[in-house]
Amino acid sequence: MGYCSALAVFGHAVSPPKLNSEYKASSSSSYRRRTISLLKQCKHINQIQSIHAQIIRNAHEKNPFIIFELIRLSSIFNSIDYAFKIFQHTHDPNIYLYTAMIDGFVSAGSYIDGIYLYNRMINHSILPDKYVVTSVLKACGFELAFSEGRQVHGQVFKLGLGSNRSIMLKLIEFYGKCGEFKAVIQLSDEMPERDDAVALTVVMTCYVDHGLVEKAIDVFNRVKVKDMVCWTAMIDGLIRNGEMSRALDVFREMQREKVRPNEVTIVCVLSACSQLGALELGKWVHAYMGKYRIKLNQFVGAALINMYSRCGDIDKAALVFREIKERNVITYNSIIAGLAMHGRSIEAIDMFREMIGRGIRPSSITFVAVLNACGHGGLVDLGFEIFHSMRRDYEIKPQIEHYGCIVDLLGRAGFLEEAYNFIKSMKIAPDRIMLGALLSACKIHGNLELGKQIARTMLDCRYADSGTYILLSNAYASKGKWEEAVQMRAKMKAAGMKKEPGCSSIEVNSEIHEFFLGDTTHPQREKIYKKLEEIIQMLKLEGYSPSTEVVLHDIEDREKEWALAIHSEKLAICYGLISTKPFTALRVVKNLRVCNDCHTMIKFIAKITRRKIVVRDRNRFHHFENGACSCGDYW
Ligand code: ZN
Ligand code: ZN
Repeated sequence: MGYCSALAVFGHAVSPPKLNSEYKASSSSSYRRRTISLLKQCKHINQIQSIHAQIIRNAHEKNPFIIFELIRLSSIFNSIDYAFKIFQHTHDPNIYLYTAMIDGFVSAGSYIDGIYLYNRMINHSILPDKYVVTSVLKACGFELAFSEGRQVHGQVFKLGLGSNRSIMLKLIEFYGKCGEFKAVIQLSDEMPERDDAVALTVVMTCYVDHGLVEKAIDVFNRVKVKDMVCWTAMIDGLIRNGEMSRALDVFREMQREKVRPNEVTIVCVLSACSQLGALELGKWVHAYMGKYRIKLNQFVGAALINMYSRCGDIDKAALVFREIKERNVITYNSIIAGLAMHGRSIEAIDMFREMIGRGIRPSSITFVAVLNACGHGGLVDLGFEIFHSMRRDYEIKPQIEHYGCIVDLLGRAGFLEEAYNFIKSMKIAPDRIMLGALLSACKIHGNLELGKQIARTMLDCRYADSGTYILLSNAYASKGKWEEAVQMRAKMKAAGMKKEPGCSSIEVNSEIHEFFLGDTTHPQREKIYKKLEEIIQMLKLEGYSPSTEVVLHDIEDREKEWALAIHSEKLAICYGLISTKPFTALRVVKNLRVCNDCHTMIKFIAKITRRKIVVRDRNRFHHFENGACSCGDYW
């Protein structure tokens, strides 16, 4: 089969480069030039392969320049195996061919193969050059191959490449990845320029990779002229270490220094905004993007959708979605997950259908999002249908997360026994999240017997965390079984577990204010507590009585009321009430699940103040308006 017909079989629209046999007759150097230029025009591995076949037919397969191009391009087209086949058929490969092949392995993430081939090269007494050394050092860093990397360092020294800047940077990165900070500091001190911004950025990244945030900040402060890469690396590092507010502070500082961010910076900052629920700042970043013409590509688009939906403004997220011209699976996943989290199940499922209608193949993540939508919407039959279509229509094997969605779907809809049987019928072991979801469902539907059974399974699997004990304790308490409730708390204490402290944050004037349970550290605390007292009095007139059953019985009634009153979300909302204009919407992010009492109270607050209050808790969004919540009191 000639290469033209081979291309026709693969259906490529690109017109294939032509390699006429007349070149056989011409001189070998012009044949070489012509072939290399044709190879460089290729758009697909199939084209490379057909030209390769021609080269073999014309008996030119030994030309090292052509082989170099073949190896280089095959690895660029993700055909590392094909590249290696060519390499293996080469007699006495030279340093360039080794470099192309090692580079190919490293770019493909086959680091071990890269290191192995490098050693083979050394054993064949071929002297490495600076290109192959940077490649292999990268591989050693990713594989944490400390002794191999140190040998390369030794060779670098012997070859007199020790002062090469790019090699030094790679060496710093390698030692940093291996956690050898002494070597990192020594090498960075040896850099020809003391304030080499790139080198210091590499050192900084080494520290943040190992969670050493303070050390990283020290290095960051040492950089005199910080470029965009340096700022972005610091912001990204802080976010990866959970330091969202600090990341945003660094971003603000970057603005003051008038350094323009790029797409990567924007995606990082938007992710910090989503996690903190900082809508105002997120909006500002969005406006900034428009002003500085930062392209709304698929990654930035997805980050914007996530930011708006996780900060409570799902309508705006949907608008951004419509603005993105080239939508891919990531774009759709973001909007489907957002709609699901906001309880807009039907829209989420419509979006899923639109995606399939446009020929975009759903991924495993898409199914988690769409099954969640079914769960929040109580759509049991549809959920099962979609679950089965995964394997049937898309050859995606359901993972533990998908099974978890089905258990949650059944549990929420009150099919507790069915959910339990479903878990027992699974071929994989249930995880903590799945059992925890069913345990919550048992509590909500008042099935204490099954709840106990599940809690026991969780204790057996060592899955129980403080949440399990508290859930069980509360389940007992809500049935008036105080004795057992207290025992559960005691067991939890004995197991050395503490409840994760509740924390809520609210954004007022682009600033995030955090509150903990019974927090008295806020500068406005007196006003906040006064407002809280005032609201409780008003609510009492409306016939509200705090549901005290979820607190243990050994506290006096009055104290019980107070203990409930100071859940962090109440403090955050009261702060919002005193510091914003009437009728302004309030947006609160809470790290744990909202309790019954807070939920009831927020509904009343929304009614009497005529405000919209949006609360994001651990699982979902609650949109409070006119005395009702979007979750339909089911969460
Ligand atoms: Zn509460
Ligand atoms: Zn709700």
